[in-house]
Order: sequence, then structure tokens, then C-alpha cells
Amino acid sequence: MRVGIVGAGPAGVTAAVFLSRYGIDVTIFEKEEIGGLIANAWRIENLPILSPCSGEELIAVLRKRLEESRVKVIYEEVLSAEDGVLKTKSNSYSFDKLIMATGTKPKRIEDFELNRSVVYEFKRLPRGIGRLAIYGAGDAAFDGALKAKEVGIKEVHVFNRTDRIRAVPKLVQLALSSGVKYHPSEPIRKVEDRHGDLELYTDVGCYQFEALLLCLGRVPNLPVLRGETKDLYVVGDASGNFRQLAIAMGHALEVCMKIVRGE
Ligand SMILES: Cc1cc2nc3c(=O)[nH]c(=O)nc-3n(C[C@H](O)[C@H](O)[C@H](O)COP(=O)(O)OP(=O)(O)OC[C@H]3O[C@@H](n4cnc5c(N)ncnc54)[C@H](O)[C@@H]3O)c2cc1C
Repeated sequence: MRVGIVGAGPAGVTAAVFLSRYGIDVTIFEKEEIGGLIANAWRIENLPILSPCSGEELIAVLRKRLEESRVKVIYEEVLSAEDGVLKTKSNSYSFDKLIMATGTKPKRIEDFELNRSVVYEFKRLPRGIGRLAIYGAGDAAFDGALKAKEVGIKEVHVFNRTDRIRAVPKLVQLALSSGVKYHPSEPIRKVEDRHGDLELYTDVGCYQFEALLLCLGRVPNLPVLRGETKDLYVVGDASGNFRQLAIAMGHALEVCMKIVRGE
């Protein structure tokens, strides 16, 4: 059996390594780097079988497992899936079964996307900046604030549209005690580019920053799916389930068990 997996985040790598142990011929496609979204994480603490570690450390483990397996890795973006065929810009690949492990994409504010210092993932921030604004109040926002402090960004401000914080309380406490400035109920109304720097306007005032990290939630991300979907499975964050590493990996395993058992 040949299985094509799209996306080499935690869910895709889990599926690939698992299926390959059963002697299944697996090819995994990745448009960027092995590891997916977790590359942005400052600290992962909710996998009790691992000591708390950074996202990068976890990715090193995933990468090693993949290298030890017989899985083929193809660094291309999959544009569509149709009747067992995956299409990239330059090639078509045929499989018996397809697994979409393509994760999520950010909720965007296009009006704020003025230059390359406005980003949706920590790993895309410009290097060497001293003043960072983060918009959002979930785990990704406060985790990003802590990571920013760790890499030496001096001024880090978190702007929240409301006074409701969705992040884990421990992350918020750590961020505040590390000097992150928090602005509750202060939505960002407008962003302007001033010779490469960013001017942020709120109802309270105008602020200057070198970069803006937008953490306003994410939605499932899938390539174009056409035709028969009987042998196509969507796993991990792409399936719209709770956005947690262990759930994404567990979901991928559950689907793979069904494939192996021929269900
Ligand atoms: C800042 C931050 C901190 C987090 N911290 C934690 C934490 O502490 N604990 C926890 O449990 N979870 C955490 N998460 C959530 C966790 O990262 C996700 O739940 C997990 O990464 C989902 O895995 P996935 O494989 O389903 O998707 P993703 O990790 O999103 O991987 C999808 C992969 O598919 C690739 N891809 C997408 N489309 C295509 C295509 N068309 N062709 C080829 N490749 C494609 C992408 O490049 C990516 O590598 C955090 C997330 C963020 C953003």
C-alpha cells in the first residue's frame, strides 16, 4: 500500500512513522520545514512523558524519528488532492490512500500587513528587533511574549481587544513578571508604516514598534480537495479538533490504526 501524507507537523510525522513501522510505503510532503506550528512554541509542558521543552527541541525529536524511518520526504507544496493523486506545482503523485495533516492558517487582518515585520508566527519575526507588539490574548500571544523576552527583545507589549484572557494563567503570570506590558480592552485600530517602523493606533494613543505579531486565532487549512474522498483522511489541527499537540498526534494515530486494520 502507498500512502501520501501532506504536512510534516506533529500529526503528519506521527502518521508517517507509525505507518512505516507496518511496512507501508509512505511519502510525506512538506512545503516549509519538518515540525509545523510547534516551531514557534516557547515551552511545551503538557506532554507528561517529556520534560518541559521548547518547540525546537520537540521538533529535533520528530526529525530524528522521521530520519530513522523509511519514509520519503518531498519538500513541495501540495496544491490539490483528487482521487488519490497529489498535485504540486511541477509534479503529480499517485497513492492508494491520502492523509491531510496540513494544520491551520491564521485569521488575518490584511489592512495591517504593511511590510515584512507584520507576521503571524514568531519564527517569521525579523531578527535583532528591540520593540515588539503582540495582538491577541490566547496561549500563542503570551507564549510568544515569553519567547520574545527570552531572545532578548527589550519592549514587549500585548494588546487585547477585550478584558478576557484565554491563555493558561501560568503563561500570563510569567509574562507579566518578566516585564511584558499588557494592554487589556485596547484594540489596535490602525497600523501605519513609518520608514520601516510601525505606528500602532489605539483609543489610548499611538505607539512605535519594530514588529507586530498577530495571534488572533487560526482556522483549518486544506489544499483543494476534489473527486472521491473515500480514501482520504484529514488529521490533526486540520480536522478542526482542539489545537493541542497530543490530540493532533493521537488523532493521526487513530486514523492510521484504521488504515492498518483495513477499516
Ligand atoms: C505559539 C504556539 C505554541 C503552542 N504551544 C503548544 C503547547 O505548549 N502544547 C500543545 O499541546 N500545543 C501547542 N501548540 C499547538 C500545536 O503547535 C499544534 O496543535 C500542532 O502543531 C498541530 O499539529 P499538526 O501536525 O496538526 O499541524 P501543524 O503543526 O500546523 O503542521 C502542519 C504542517 O503542514 C504543512 N503544510 C500545510 N499545507 C501544506 C501543503 N499544501 N503542502 C505541503 N505541506 C503543507 C505546514 O507547513 C506544516 O508543517 C502551540 C501552537 C503555537 C502557535
